[in-house]
Amino acid sequence: MANIVILGAGIGGMPMAYEMKELARSGDTVTVISDAPKFHFVPSNPWVAVDWRKRAEIEIDIAPALAKKGIESIIQAAKRVHPEDNQVELMDGTRVDYDYLVIATGPKLAFDEVEGLGPHGGHTQSICHVSHAETSKNAWEQFVQDPGPIVVGAVQGASCFGPAYEFAMIMDTDLRKRKIRDKVPMTYVTPEPYIGHLGLGGVGDSKGMLEAAMRQRHIKWICNAKTTKIEDGQMFVTEHNDQGQPIKEHVLPFKHSMMLPAFKGIDAVFGIEGLTNPRGFITVDEHQRNAKFKNIFSIGVCIAIPPVEATPIPCGTPKTGFMIESMVTATAHNIREIMDGKEPSHNATWNTICLADFGDTGACFVALPQIPPRNVSWFAEGKWVHLAKVAFEKYFMNKMRKGTSEPIYEKIIMNFIGITKLKEKSGK
Ligand code: FAD
Repeated sequence: MANIVILGAGIGGMPMAYEMKELARSGDTVTVISDAPKFHFVPSNPWVAVDWRKRAEIEIDIAPALAKKGIESIIQAAKRVHPEDNQVELMDGTRVDYDYLVIATGPKLAFDEVEGLGPHGGHTQSICHVSHAETSKNAWEQFVQDPGPIVVGAVQGASCFGPAYEFAMIMDTDLRKRKIRDKVPMTYVTPEPYIGHLGLGGVGDSKGMLEAAMRQRHIKWICNAKTTKIEDGQMFVTEHNDQGQPIKEHVLPFKHSMMLPAFKGIDAVFGIEGLTNPRGFITVDEHQRNAKFKNIFSIGVCIAIPPVEATPIPCGTPKTGFMIESMVTATAHNIREIMDGKEPSHNATWNTICLADFGDTGACFVALPQIPPRNVSWFAEGKWVHLAKVAFEKYFMNKMRKGTSEPIYEKIIMNFIGITKLKEKSGK
């Protein structure tokens, strides 16, 4: 019988635990190690940051939810993974043995790569973690009493652009509702070579549609931007041309700013030869399995995926929720196959589907496969996206509370728009 350990209890780790438990044999144990006692639904963080959601509404206690399904949990951060010993070392020095390990820790947020970036001693807000979103909300409440310029976007090396656009539009909507939008010049700053690149080389007419949305909302933009330094109330940004040469220096004043950082791998795995790439992301094959340590799998934002294309200023590839769920399903099946003495045969689709809420309307993009040329490359805007995103939040939270692994929403809606979580079995 096997010990299957899942490291991390986020958008990837929690569904992983449920799917693995369903596919495991009766004597196998599934254990989740989490550095925090609560799961939180990261895609709702932008709403927390403008007080459209309370933190408690997007959180669930991990241990009781997992226990209902017979899944064990250890609420303590991992200090170091020891792949040669098949053990995870916890902060208190104890070690947890595993036969199979699934690493699902999300990113380490690389605020330290830009002077003055981020909420830990820097001058910008973040929506990457729910606690950041709460801090951002407090700053927002002060800001709306005495509004001024906003700078929003992402710094060089970032990969998760959807939430940056989303948050720009959400702030715009909130300010319009408060009837103070006229007091707030807004600038979107991004390393993307053009608006709507999204780290994906564009999706459908994402360029045209997002540019139009930004124009309609009077949001200016600077692309090919490298943020060099942030001081209290001003951001230093170098704009580049398509060859990556600097063409203009900007000093942007702001009273409120949210800039997404670049991501890297967490300290517990950083620098383990054969397990991670130089940025600390876990290298995996098409079965989500590490090539050197064959009993280690990885899913979610912590895996290494190369950029979709070279850009003048570095832009990473986003890893979105549906893509992560497809990694989860493939991994659970592959571990079961290996336990049955077979070769793993399931590949995740790594398709990108993302719902970006704009507050009153929203944008949906679908990229199948992720790297162009694509079979489906589709970008659409409308009120239905806002409603779909609210529905998605409710369904995902419900799924995490109940511990169901393949809910109706995915079966019906995703299949309806032609997206499936698993590729045909490899080799067929
Ligand atoms: P996470 O959800 O971050 O989970 C990782 C977990 O590991 C966390 O619970 C963390 O506490 C834990 N952990 C970390 N280190 C340790 C350690 N040492 N020991 C133990 N536990 C540890 N995608 C979409 O498809 N749609 C969206 O609308 C969307 N919105 C997003 C909005 C924001 C603001 C961001 C940042 C991303 C968004 N994404 C969205 C992208 C993606 O879906 C999320 O980033 C998602 O949370 C990634 O899931 P994950 O499991 O890889 O990481």
